[in-house]
Amino acid sequence: MICKICGNSEGNQPHIAREMMFGLGDSFTYLECSRCGCVQLQDPPADMSKYYPPTYYSFAITPVAIFNHPVKNIAKRFRDTYAVTNRSSLGKVLYVLFPDMLIRSLAHTGVTKRSRILDVGCGSGWLLYSLVNAGFRTVLGIDPYIDATITYKNGLTIRKQSIHEVDGE
Ligand SMILES: [Zn+2]
Repeated sequence: MICKICGNSEGNQPHIAREMMFGLGDSFTYLECSRCGCVQLQDPPADMSKYYPPTYYSFAITPVAIFNHPVKNIAKRFRDTYAVTNRSSLGKVLYVLFPDMLIRSLAHTGVTKRSRILDVGCGSGWLLYSLVNAGFRTVLGIDPYIDATITYKNGLTIRKQSIHEVDGE
């Protein structure tokens, strides 16, 4: 099996996993590349919609409900700036008090507030909403399984679109 990312075919490890969230039990083979470490789904189903019903967790989280308090939003701005960029002393203190491992997982990517970020399969876009709240301006979310394109008052747009429909680099 060949890695779709780096083309390596030596020493790659297959992993079999079953869908358990909805109890469908469907079996999927993933490949772990021995060179680049990418774990990738082999032979994705043509129609993945049954795995992303409207009740799927990332559609159910509404960022507007999370960012509904002006003072907390300011605190989150500092905390999330530190979590992603390691900048902001106040943000560091807030992060120690109120950690968020998911947004912190972006820290190793080296993104800055000037980075262009595309979140593929972002659901309602709550992670991008956090980034926009923290001052990131060139972000875009796409998800083919949301009901319709979403435009939030803070300027964030989540398009009902697949990655194959995105223009540009
Ligand atoms: Zn690879």
